[in-house]
Formats: sequence, structure tokens, C-alpha cells
Amino acid sequence: MKRILIIFTVFAFLFSCKEDKTSQIQNKKAKNIILMIADGMGVTQLYAAMSISEKPLHIEKFKVAGLQKTYSASDYITDSGAAGTAIATGVKTKNQSIGIDTAGNAVKTILEYAEEYKLATGLVSTSSILHATPASFIAHEQHRKNYENIARDFLDVDIDLFIGGGRKQFVQREDGLNLLDSLKQRNYNIVDGIENLDTGNNGKYAVFTAEGHNPEILNGRGDMLPQSTQKAIEILSKNENGFFLMVEGSQIDWGGHDNDIDYVITETIDFDNAVAKALEFAKADGETLLIVTSDHETGGLTIVEGDMKTKTIKTHFSTEHHTSVMVPVFAYGPGAEEFGGIYENTDIFEKMMNAFGFKK
Ligand code: MG
Ligand code: ZN
Repeated sequence: MKRILIIFTVFAFLFSCKEDKTSQIQNKKAKNIILMIADGMGVTQLYAAMSISEKPLHIEKFKVAGLQKTYSASDYITDSGAAGTAIATGVKTKNQSIGIDTAGNAVKTILEYAEEYKLATGLVSTSSILHATPASFIAHEQHRKNYENIARDFLDVDIDLFIGGGRKQFVQREDGLNLLDSLKQRNYNIVDGIENLDTGNNGKYAVFTAEGHNPEILNGRGDMLPQSTQKAIEILSKNENGFFLMVEGSQIDWGGHDNDIDYVITETIDFDNAVAKALEFAKADGETLLIVTSDHETGGLTIVEGDMKTKTIKTHFSTEHHTSVMVPVFAYGPGAEEFGGIYENTDIFEKMMNAFGFKK
């Protein structure tokens, strides 16, 4: 009798373990994904900002870190078009391409899948919203510089919110169209400036923060990125099916091209402040997967001297262009552990699809 009881207990235990495992797997599904891309930020840009910052960066709080390989289908060193497309669609393509494969066919993006699954979607950027990184999530163009076409592509997707520069290509166009009128017809609130965004309105949002690109932090951009991130989350999280949001810190890359370390560091810290807003939401929400990564490193930055006490560093750039090195990935929330290790930039798309439970 005793023996039978023991056997029964063991079975009951095994059964309960099995049940726990199933529920854990179910819990891994993410209702929301916030993907944050720091354009041009390698490990050195991040460590430079960490070294001079008085307090630890928010990115240092992540428990899961990985590395992604950034090469494109055409080049050992990627541009932001091919890298953005890889992350957004899971397909390696040629440099300069946006949302298309090497044969020129449009490839569906994670944002378009999210739309199909009735999630709310959004894009936020400190450059023009038509620039390569955000464009890769919504447009399908042979060349990243086809800005007027990219603006028109925004009308083909039912995106719920976008915040960034690039107003000019919606109104002063060679084809004479006024795309702001088209947006209005499609029930968009058109807002100039993030400070004028009232998150309580109905409908979709097109928020223009500049005619072209936004200014750099050192030139008065203020807290546009953290504020936009917070407001975007506030709006998109109203959708009960969940949301997909991509947030880009665009100008770490430009600081790298300029070989300007102050530019790089101030933009990295600003990006980190936006990460703080997303992390705060993800922690309180519990159903949000937050991924923080980059598309490539810019400038071949090295730190050749430093002092932790005085918070000073001496740096050196080896190029004015992008480099090939792997870039970091940090993740928090349901499915975060999938982002540990070394993998292709295209795997980020696959991991997001799995986390959402989307089928191709
Ligand atoms: Mg970019
Ligand atoms: Zn660049």
C-alpha cells in the first residue's frame, strides 16, 4: 500500500511538472513587442557612454544579452537599409534596399504581420521617419533614398502611429500630391511636435517633429525620443490584442560618421533614457517583450585610455564608415531568453515571430 502511494505521489509529481512546463511555454508568448534600435551603436559606443555616465545606464539592467552578425547579402559591411530589412523581414538583402529581397520582391515585415494579426503598430525615430531604419519596417523600395515613394508606402499600411521627422516629403512632392490630406482621410490625427500630441484622441496618429531630420541632442532636440517612446506606448497599449512598436535612436550613427565622440555619447545616453521608458512599461505590464539592439557599428570606435574615478575616456575612430563587428542585443520579458548567444540579424525577426506566435 505504501509502495502504491509512493508510486502515485511520483506520478502526481511528474504530472504536475509536465503541467508546469506547458504553462511556462504558454507564458512565453508576448502580447506586445517593443523593438529598440540604436543605429550605429556597437559595444564600444555603449561602453563609452557607461564610462562617462555618473550613474549606471538602464541598459545595464538587462539580464539577457546576445550578439548579432550584421553582414548583408551584398556586402561584408552592411548599411542601415539592408540591416533594417534583415531585422524587419528575416531576409538578408543588398545594401540600400528597403523591405525587398535580392531579386527585388517585397517581403512582408514584422509590422505588416502585426497589422494582419490586428495588433496596434507604431514607429518612432530621431531621424526622418522615412529614413532607412524605420522605412525598412513599412516600405518596399529598391533604394533607401526614394523618400517620396517611402512616404506613399506609409499609406498602404494601416500603421496606428508614427513619430519623427520627414514632413516635407508628405507635402512638397514632385507628383504634387498632398499626403497629409490622404492621411486625414484615413482617420489620422496629424500633429506637429511631440508636445502637441494628445494621447486621448481617437483614430491614428501621424506626428511630425521636423520637416527633415530632427536636430541632434547637442543642438536642442531635448527629450523628444524618451517622450515619444512613452506616448507611443500609452497610445498603442490601448489595443487589447497587443502592439508592435519600433523605436530608433538614429543619430549615434551620425556621430560615428562625424568621428565626434560627444555626439556619439549624448545620443547613446538619450537612447538609454528612451529604453528606461520602455523597460518601466515592460516591467509593470509583464506581457511585453523588449528588445534593444543596433543595426551595425559606425566609426570603428576604440577606447584607448580611461579613468573610472574621473569619468574620462580617450577614444579613437578608425573609419568614417560602418564596420562589420557584431552588435549587442538585450532582451527583457516573455521570450527574452531566446536572445542569448550569437546569431544572424535575420534571426531577430524569427524570434519576434515566435514570441508573438505568428505564422508565415
Ligand atoms: Mg537609421
Ligand atoms: Zn551610417
